[in-house]
Amino acid sequence: MDLYEYQARDLFEAHGVPVPAGIVATTPAEAADAASRLGTPVMVVKAQVKTGGRGKAGGVKVVKSPEAAREAAEKILGMDIKGHVVRAVMVAEGIDIAEEYYFSLLVDRAERNWLAMCSVQGGMDIETLAAEHPEALARVSVDPRTGLDAAKAAEVVAAAGFRAEDRAKVADVLVRLGEVFVAEDATLVEVNPLVKTREGRIVAADGKVSLDAHAGFRHPDHAALADTTAADPLELAAAERDLNYVKLDGVVGVIGNGAGLVMSTLDVVAAAGADLPGSPSPANFLDIGGGASAQVMADGLAIILSDPQVRSVFVNVFGGITACDKVANGIKQALTMLGERATRPIVVRLDGNAVEEGRAILTELNHPQIRLADTMDEGARMAAELAVETPASGREA
Ligand code: GDP
Ligand code: MN
Repeated sequence: MDLYEYQARDLFEAHGVPVPAGIVATTPAEAADAASRLGTPVMVVKAQVKTGGRGKAGGVKVVKSPEAAREAAEKILGMDIKGHVVRAVMVAEGIDIAEEYYFSLLVDRAERNWLAMCSVQGGMDIETLAAEHPEALARVSVDPRTGLDAAKAAEVVAAAGFRAEDRAKVADVLVRLGEVFVAEDATLVEVNPLVKTREGRIVAADGKVSLDAHAGFRHPDHAALADTTAADPLELAAAERDLNYVKLDGVVGVIGNGAGLVMSTLDVVAAAGADLPGSPSPANFLDIGGGASAQVMADGLAIILSDPQVRSVFVNVFGGITACDKVANGIKQALTMLGERATRPIVVRLDGNAVEEGRAILTELNHPQIRLADTMDEGARMAAELAVETPASGREA
């Protein structure tokens, strides 16, 4: 999970990393108010979007009064920065910048290690720096068992070529950033720019943090950092049930077990629908994984059937460790749980382990919405045709 700059700022502050004061605002009036509350002679109004290059795109403006903060927020809110619409700004205390540096600490999967990167040439984006001045970017491996301790931080600042008189101060901030990385289970902590102010203080002026979702159970407080405004409501509901669901534009709901199978099912459904009236295409990606219990199947079907765009559903399951009879019983129980919410035709293709038993269960069930297909291609074609024949629910947007 990637954090917004203001969230990274808060985490940094909590771990003793020096940061500018900052207040989030979602309207120009709030931005003006935030600026008066900060009460500093200079403020910076910064677009809160999860992408870099905001400065270049006009999403970072230095202002000197609450009125100017309001005007800057008016311009920045609603701006589109690389496909991200700005819904909030952070009004931050202005920093009197003498020098801009770069620092990041990340999980280096290829090396099975951590990697610290640091440069005395900050401010520009790291890809450009790495491409144009690779010699100016120090790369130092960090052993996860010791982390970015004082000795390692000293090594990093020396490698980056900081002036002798700045090294201790910078290293101290790097150690604190290393503590953020460990304590918060981050996979990335990046500061660009890390600045030296004219008074000689070292301050993290812009932070980017990615948190490891797999460590979420250790951090109940991280749930509050998740971005719920930007997400699709069906995707949110699916995430709450731990389902691997992605909303798509089409009308054929798709459920499968295994990401690879579901991906190819999407292709086959799209191909089957291509020549039909209205070209029905997949409404979603949903991988129910290996278990395929009745509850997971019911949750999956419920999510898909609550999408008003869905006209038909294609359940494509390859029985492996979880055999087809288990899956068929899962579907059967799911239909009982769904009751009258099973409003759309559901094509089921089962193959693999215990396929005969699985089909027998569904044949015997004789549910009005269930149709069996022998192959994936046939199932996709049936589902696409049913999507054309089935009228819209009337709830459609
Ligand atoms: P990014 O472009 O998305 O990385 O946004 P940054 O927060 O890094 O800001 C871009 C640039 O704006 C920085 O490199 C600085 O040069 C400038 N900037 C940001 N904050 C301040 C500030 O408080 N004072 C001044 N003078 N410049 C700032
Ligand atoms: Mn930056």
